[in-house]
Amino acid sequence: MTSVPHSIPHWIGGREDVGTGPRVGTVYHPARGTAQRTVQLADHADVDRTVAVATAAFATWGRSSLSTRVPILFAFRELVLKHADALAQIISSEHGKVLADARGEVQRGLEVIEFACGIPHLLKGEYSDTVSLGTDSFSIRQPLGVVVGITPFNFPAMVPMWMFPIAIAAGNCFVLKPSERDPSVSVRLGQLWKEAGLPDGVFNVVHGDVDTVNRLLEHPDVAAVSFVGSTPVARHVHETASRHGKRVQALGGAKNHMVVMPDAALDVAADAAVNAAFGSAGQRCMAISVVVAVGDAADRLVPRIAERVRAITVGSGDDPSADMGPLVTAAARDRVLSCIEDGVQAGATLVTDGRGVTVSGYEDGFFVGPCLFDHVTDTMRIYHEEIFGPVLCVVRVASLDAAIALVNSSPFANGVAVFTADGATARRFVHDIEVGMVGINVPIPVPMAYHSFGGWKSSLFGDMHVHGPEGVRFYTRAKVVTARWPEAVATGKDLAFPSVR
Ligand code: NAD
Repeated sequence: MTSVPHSIPHWIGGREDVGTGPRVGTVYHPARGTAQRTVQLADHADVDRTVAVATAAFATWGRSSLSTRVPILFAFRELVLKHADALAQIISSEHGKVLADARGEVQRGLEVIEFACGIPHLLKGEYSDTVSLGTDSFSIRQPLGVVVGITPFNFPAMVPMWMFPIAIAAGNCFVLKPSERDPSVSVRLGQLWKEAGLPDGVFNVVHGDVDTVNRLLEHPDVAAVSFVGSTPVARHVHETASRHGKRVQALGGAKNHMVVMPDAALDVAADAAVNAAFGSAGQRCMAISVVVAVGDAADRLVPRIAERVRAITVGSGDDPSADMGPLVTAAARDRVLSCIEDGVQAGATLVTDGRGVTVSGYEDGFFVGPCLFDHVTDTMRIYHEEIFGPVLCVVRVASLDAAIALVNSSPFANGVAVFTADGATARRFVHDIEVGMVGINVPIPVPMAYHSFGGWKSSLFGDMHVHGPEGVRFYTRAKVVTARWPEAVATGKDLAFPSVR
């Protein structure tokens, strides 16, 4: 079965599964503003059954050879590539983002699958020959068992694909709890895994809400939890799963700054700020939400940004002429509108006002047009709260020192960028800024799949970032072996602590 079903089922043990729980959630078509499907919400029995299925699958998959796993990963990569446009359509219809943006998300996920295809190299251990006479020492990395991914609505394909290709390649079995707001694409990915030859039970999807998540966090047979979402939930997930003895990485929210120096190429900076702020209607964890204009940069930069903002076309995700789609739900739209109103009341200058935008044929859609605020200060709610919508704030500061101090005072520390023509300024910025991912004349510094992705402070709880080398370490545990073979000489009785001879 390849089409998206009307009521979205779980994907358990290699097949669609409606579960036992009576609860369902509503999935909207954000551009139309109407409900389009329901989604099953797993109860505890559904979660327990899914973890049991994954545990049973691990008995075989966890012992499978690298030469068994790698061809399946290559086959999955081919299928995701073949179906990339169809996957993008599913994403766009439930999230609302424009198709080109959704296709880009699939591409970034593909890059992690490609990285995971190299798992034999990534899992190579270390070997020390003759650590003692006749004795060698080596290390191997082994899978953890059943691992869980809990993911947000804003990248329903890419964020899960940050996790499961590496987890599965390393020999784990995976349970995905995607966002209940745009869950269909995860089931489709399950179907593609099956077509690629993945044994049943290695990749599973349980839909659900808070209750479902909490059962997963407490389940005794879950070894590790990867979470991506808002900061309060990330903190809760980190604390709860840690308390239950699990390895956890919990990525939280963001408020990303883009510092623009007076010497920057301002047309380039204006393009970057607009693309990074309003792509996906600002619903990206790496979106730029604050431009910090240094010295006299603002007077020259703000008109350039405003001109570009006025040229943005808002429309349905499947309209090729649209640059930006709607927000994901009515609640998200209303929250963003309340933030904008708050900014106006607080005295910021609303240079372009996206409120009241309507899209012909989609009058009930969850649209908010792009908004640009100037003269924002760090005491305003629009400055310190993550808005997660198409709102860009400009803060004016006197110096690079003031810009760095402002960025470093934020509790969020996901991404940051500096725009400058001066190498020394960029170098100093990189050293002094307290943020996990830094761009130099690059507004959205998302690392490639072979590096790891993660912020600092309230943008990530846990020790390890996702994908790349840290992803491999997260989904495996090290074992160090010290081996002596028969040619070793018997030493007789010696109860002293072993030492090198
Ligand atoms: P969210 O925190 O509301 O939901 C994320 C996941 O947690 C979903 O699967 C949801 O079902 C579940 N969940 C929600 N509330 C919960 C609760 N109280 N207890 C347990 N589970 C709960 O996030 P969202 O609105 O889906 O996504 C947007 C957020 O994700 C933004 O804050 C954004 O910055 C963040 N995000 C961060 C990154 C990153 O890399 N740091 C990437 C993408 C998104």
